[in-house]
Formats: sequence, structure tokens, C-alpha cells
Amino acid sequence: MIHRPQYAEVVVEIADRKLDRPFHYEIPAQLEEVVKPGVRVLVPFGNRKLEGYVVGLVPRAEVTETKPILAVREGEPVISNELLQLARWMALYYMCPLVTVLQAFFPKRNGSSLKTTQEWCFLEPTVTVGTVSTVRKRAPKQGAILEQLLQAGPLLVRQLLQLTGADRRSLMSLVRKGLVRIDCHEAAPAREAVPVLEEPPELTGEQERVLAAIVPKLHPPQHEVFLLHGVTGSGKTEIYFRALTRVLEAGYQAIVLFPEISLTTHLIERFHQRFGSRVEVLHSRLPMKERLLTLDRMAKGHVPIVVGTRSAVFAPVPKLGLIIIDEEHETSYQQEVNPKYHARDVALVRAFINKVPLILGSATPSLESYYKACQGKFTLLKMGNRVERKQLPKVLVTDLRQEQKDGNATLFSRLLLEKLQERLEEKEQTILFLNRRGYANLFNCRECGQVVKCQYCDVSLTYYAEKRVLKCHYCGYTRPVPNRCPSCGGSRVRPLGAGTEKVEKELLEYFPQARVVRIDSDTVRKKGDYERLLGLFENRLADVMIGTQMVAKGLDFPGVTLVGVILADQMLSFPDFRARERGFQLLTQVAGRAGRGTGLGEVIIQTFVPDDPTINAAAGHDFEQFFSQEIRLRRLLGYPPFNHLIRILVTGEREERCEAGAREIADRINSHRSQGEADLLGPTPAPLTKIKNVYRWQLILKGPRIKEMRRLVAVALREAAQGGRLPRGIRINLDIDPLGLL
Ligand code: ADP
Ligand code: ZN
Repeated sequence: MIHRPQYAEVVVEIADRKLDRPFHYEIPAQLEEVVKPGVRVLVPFGNRKLEGYVVGLVPRAEVTETKPILAVREGEPVISNELLQLARWMALYYMCPLVTVLQAFFPKRNGSSLKTTQEWCFLEPTVTVGTVSTVRKRAPKQGAILEQLLQAGPLLVRQLLQLTGADRRSLMSLVRKGLVRIDCHEAAPAREAVPVLEEPPELTGEQERVLAAIVPKLHPPQHEVFLLHGVTGSGKTEIYFRALTRVLEAGYQAIVLFPEISLTTHLIERFHQRFGSRVEVLHSRLPMKERLLTLDRMAKGHVPIVVGTRSAVFAPVPKLGLIIIDEEHETSYQQEVNPKYHARDVALVRAFINKVPLILGSATPSLESYYKACQGKFTLLKMGNRVERKQLPKVLVTDLRQEQKDGNATLFSRLLLEKLQERLEEKEQTILFLNRRGYANLFNCRECGQVVKCQYCDVSLTYYAEKRVLKCHYCGYTRPVPNRCPSCGGSRVRPLGAGTEKVEKELLEYFPQARVVRIDSDTVRKKGDYERLLGLFENRLADVMIGTQMVAKGLDFPGVTLVGVILADQMLSFPDFRARERGFQLLTQVAGRAGRGTGLGEVIIQTFVPDDPTINAAAGHDFEQFFSQEIRLRRLLGYPPFNHLIRILVTGEREERCEAGAREIADRINSHRSQGEADLLGPTPAPLTKIKNVYRWQLILKGPRIKEMRRLVAVALREAAQGGRLPRGIRINLDIDPLGLL
């Protein structure tokens, strides 16, 4: 038999865009068994040794001189073919090195754990003395291994090989024969078995109907994307639970993603009550060691339900049967560092590759997803009622212009004060919400309420106090602070804003006896702060909770019957074309905190623009109305979902170099850009002009076909670099489909 030489394609862990391609390495005979796509290896690279990933096996190398792979990392989960395929897609789509994507899949073990990997070898229970002697006749080394295990019980792999003088190959063939098993199990902290406590409730009619649409796709899994649009409290989680139950019964595993912020003990408790220890949680705050062990267990198929934040979308479960993304509109599904992916988009591709269903759930779907549902690309499922006939809260809008006219310059309208008083007397709870965004000061007119906007981009202008100018973060348009309102000619134009701290102070002036907890990034500093403060409120040791968006989402406090939005304008006028969408989502989410118990909830939205269509849609709990207004604007202005965006951010310590670099790239793009292919906005300083002494300039490319846009960017960057036209000391960052443009 002719032995065909095989080579491994390896991507190495090196931070250099130019080296972002596979290199060919020989596979030494003793590693033949273990080198396969998806394993981590150590390879010689120049005069260094680097780690990398095998991404393919080929019969021939492209170059004549190849070096051998030095070692294979033991005890690492192997990246499956499907995940490799996903990684390739991500690298291509997000224009980032493949190795960066792979590193995001599995966090790197530090150097010491490489040596001390606790790999244990176990005898399978079926092995008897008889098996050992049969094996020994044909393969003495393998026989020795079995005998050793039979005598001594589980052993560290390293020890076992030393004791028997056998090599890893003999061991691996025993594994393949199903006689022994290798596991990190012994090193893993013993997990306590959590019993299942909860009986499923009887489904409502709406839930029945929705589930009936999903179930046929679950067993065997078939690809389909469901957009579950259910109002707050409609029982979406119960739908997830039922679908998960089916998936487990069929012997598959599932991945459930939640936004960072709602992954509270609450939610995890709910999962444990229903699924006991069949659920494991994966999030970035897990200690590294624990995280790696959890990943190991997942890769072995020992974890039926993976619950986690965005990176759990890469969970290496071998028999994926379903992916669920709760609150699919949440921005925390976007990763802000390389690889800059959006977990929802990655999940779409993973579900497609694995041919499994994907459920996207939300009370306020993203425009992107809802638009796809309207186009028939996603299956839309609706739940318009809260369970147990609970009512959605009644929403009242108060006009802050009127309050000011009547001489009330505080943060509290008379209506809100009245309602607060009632709640305090009735011993019911209130949430006061204010989304303070320190870095984006807006300017508005106190008479007509309008925020001053860019005439080209339909986004709010940002106020720069020191220079007394207003500036657009998209196109760079700058104007002096107006003396009169551009909309009504009124003279009272002012910066807009106040913080949660001030809310607390004023509240206590009105109601000194009120027990208040404030939750924002100032009061939540250490681990446990958030849970502790929430606990106070949950146990009704506080009457009023004041907070930023940290309190808006997912919380379920039956005692809350009043929600006050101190100032809605800030969230609607954030300088971003998605401001209205975010504002609508936030208002809906915040309002959804009220009336989850027995009493009817009330919500008061304070604003300078009471006629604003977004506020009205939120007040009427009318997502469809909001969607049809907003999608029209997006179409008109060519924003997503009608176009893609690519943001090119140029950073560096010298501002003039950033600017020169950005201009050079813009020139390159313009020289290749054909009519109708894409628009180029900028270059202009980014909204966050400087972070830690690093300046930031940006360009935004906007167009319908992402493939062409990526090509345009790639060509422009290559030419700029080759021509030596880029200044030194700058970095170029790419964002494909960015959510924020700060
Ligand atoms: P959503 O995620 O849609 O906001 P949840 O799933 O949190 O809503 O459900 C709201 C509340 O209703 C939860 O306390 C949940 O346990 C309860 N619930 C869900 N479905 C049912 C049902 N069919 N019967 C009774 N209670 C239910
Ligand atoms: Zn503009």
C-alpha cells in the first residue's frame, strides 16, 4: 500500500493580517491519529514556536519545504466541521483573521495548564479479564494498558503511558474500539445534581398555537427561523421550555442565548427549576478554568441545554437540535472587539449550516428581523396577550413644556408626583427610569420640544460645550449653537439632560420617608452589587427603584404598579439612526415592568415632545405602528435593513495621521467606487473623538450589496498599504454591520 503523504493546513496565532492564511505542515507519523481539522497544535514558525489550529488536511503542500507539526494540545475540545465552516464564514463576512475567530470559539488555556492538563483514562464498564487477554494476543501494548487500568482504576493518561511503556496511538485505538474513555471528568468540580421542581403550567391558547407551529420542525430538526413576537409577560419563556423539552426527548442538545444583562440568577433559577442539572450556564464572567471544563463537557455531549450570553452561540455541542435567542433585538449580542460579530447573525448561519430551527424571541423585534419576517424569510409567530388575562399597563404621557410654562422646573411632573404619592401610601412599588448617556449631550427647544438635528443625516447633533458647537457624528456637519430654535424660532434652546443621581435627590426632597434604591453604573461597581440592590427591591425593603437601562429589562417584580420615565427625549434623540428604535424598545421594556402582579400597572412617560410618533406607538403598545413608521424612514434614508454599513475606524496617537490615513482610504475607495454601488460618508472624527489619548477618525460605507462593499474596502486597504501612502502609527479597524457608530 502506498502511503500518501498528508499535510495539515494550519492557521497560526499571530497578530498580523498579512499572515492570515493557512500554512502547510507535515504530519509526523506519531501524530497521524490525532491531527485532524479542528485540533490545536504547536508548530515551528520562522525561528519561533507558535500555536495554531488545523483547518484542513491536504495531500500536497503548496511549498516544497515544509516543517513538521511539533505537538498536539491534549484535552482540548476539537472544533467540529460545522463550527469550522461557521468560523470560515465569520472570517470572510466580518473581514477578520480566521485565527481570531477560532480563538473566540475556545478561550486559550494558559501555559501552565498546557502541561498539567488533567486527562484521565477510564476503563469502560464492559471490559472484563477475558477482553484483556483477547486484546493482549494481538496487541500487547494495548493489552498492557487495559490490564493496568483493570488493576489500578482510572489513571492520568501521562502516568498510564509511562507505566505501560505504550504510546498514545495504542491508547487511541482502544478509545476507538470503545474499551477505554479519556475524560477530564476527575478534574472537574463535582456538579451537584439539581432536581426538577416545576410542573409545566397549562398552556394558553396563544401559546398552544405558537408551539404547534414550532414542534414539527424540532424532531428531526429542520431548518427554519421563527420570529416570536410576544408582548411582555405573554409567556415566551414557556414556549422556549416546551420546545427545549422536545429537543431533549429526541436526544439533541440546544443553545439558548440571553442578553448579558438579563442573565440574572432569576432566570437561571427558572431554568433549573424546569430542567434541573441538564442546564449549564456559559458566560464570560465564569472563571476561566470552569469555563474550559464546561466547554469540555459540552463538546462531549454531556450538556443538554447550554444557556449563555453571545459567545455561547459557539458552544461546541455535538448534536445541535435548536437555537433560541431571547430578546433578539438587544445590542449586547454585538461583540465590540475582534471578531466583531453579531450573535444573532452568527446563529442564523449556524442554524443554517447545522440544519436546525432557530427561535428569535422579543416583545420589540429588531427592524432587521421584523422586516425579514414581513418578507417571508422568517416565520412570524405572535402572542398579543399577557398570560392569565393580565392587562398591559396603562400608559400616560405628560408634557414637560407645559410643566415648565406653569413654573415647575423639577424633574417630576405633577401627575407623576401624584401617582408616586398614591403608591407610597398603598405600599406599592415604583420604578423610575432615566437613561442618562453622559457622552451625548443634545440640544433642544424648551418651547416646541424639538431636538436640533443634522440636515443631511436625520440624526441629532451632539453638543460640544467647550467649543459651543453642534456636530453630526455621521457626516461631520458642524454648526454654532443656535440662538433660536430651527423648528419654531423659539429662544429657549438648551442642552438636554439630567442623571439618576439628581432624580434621587429631588425625589427625597418630595418624599423624605421613601425607601429608595438606585441602580446605575455608579452604584453597581463590585460583583454582587446588582443582585444585592435588586434583592432589596424584590423583598420589598425599598419602595422606589431608580435606574438606568439596567432596570429596564427582563425583571419581574409583582409589587411594581407604577413606572415613571423621567425623560423620554434622551433615548429617542441619541445621535444614531437607530435612536428611535432603541427608544421604542426601551420604553416598551420599561413599561413592561409594571403590572406583572395582580394590580393594574400604570406608566408615565415625561417628555418635551408628547406628539412624537415613537412615544405614541410605545404608549399604545403598538409595535406594528412603530414598525411601519420607522421602516418608511429607513427606506427613505437608505439605512439598514435596506442597506449595509461598513465602518472603517482609523485610530492613532497623532490626530493628523488618523485624518490623513482616513482621507487616503477614502480616496482609494472613491477611485474604485462606481455609481449606485455604495455611498461614502466622512471621513470625520468619530463621536468619541479620543479615547485614552488615542484619536479616532471614521468613514462609513453604505450600500446594498455587502459582498461588493467588502471587496471595495479590501482593495482600498491593500492599495493604500502597498503604495506606502498610509501614515505610520495608525490602526485600521473594520466594523461590518455596526450597531453603534461611537
Ligand atoms: P415573557 O418572557 O413573554 O415576558 P414570561 O415567560 O416571563 O413572559 O411569562 C410571564 C409569567 O407568566 C411568568 O411568571 C410565567 O411563569 C407565567 N406563565 C407563562 N406561561 C403560563 C401559563 N401558560 N400559565 C400560567 N402562567 C404562565
Ligand atoms: Zn450629518
